[in-house]
Amino acid sequence: MTATLVLDDPDETKPAPGPLRRVQALINTLDRETDDDRLADREGARPLLVELGLLGSDAPLSAADLAAVIGVREALHALVLHNSGGPDIDARVLRPIRDLEDYALLRVRVDAAGAVAVVPADDSVRARLAGLLTVVSEAQRAGTWAQLKACANDECLWAFYDRSRNHGGAWCDMSGCGNKLKNREFRARRRSTR
Ligand SMILES: [Zn+2]
Repeated sequence: MTATLVLDDPDETKPAPGPLRRVQALINTLDRETDDDRLADREGARPLLVELGLLGSDAPLSAADLAAVIGVREALHALVLHNSGGPDIDARVLRPIRDLEDYALLRVRVDAAGAVAVVPADDSVRARLAGLLTVVSEAQRAGTWAQLKACANDECLWAFYDRSRNHGGAWCDMSGCGNKLKNREFRARRRSTR
């Protein structure tokens, strides 16, 4: 078995639980601090999308598919920013998700034991994206969605899962962003008292 590229990334200090990890991993394919985008080209994006379940292992990846994935990624990031007390969600940013509403991309499946699942209706990237949105829907119902947040360091904005007891976590990583911001505030305070 080959090592996973994104889902088991040891650098992810605050991974989301269960299937929500796929949503977080998609959002974090763009490092907003360095502008390093792991979905910048189709060749580089392909193995990541297969791992995230957004592309069949032998399926072609068109430029339009990749653009749809990136659009949904940015819409999900806007939702997560909102979870951390960010601005109201811009309707234009949600457009790539709304575009999925126009197609019948999901269907219902019932197994022998009566368990009902909503699954992608076909193997297309769009249907798989709609499948990823069912993870958001389930997390919203379960109450875990609100804990997927964007780092309060506005140069970072990394998506992290807030496991703090009071759900008041604000940083992707306390030793990095948390301290960086604290030091900046400390220096600003010191300057203002001089
Ligand atoms: Zn951060």
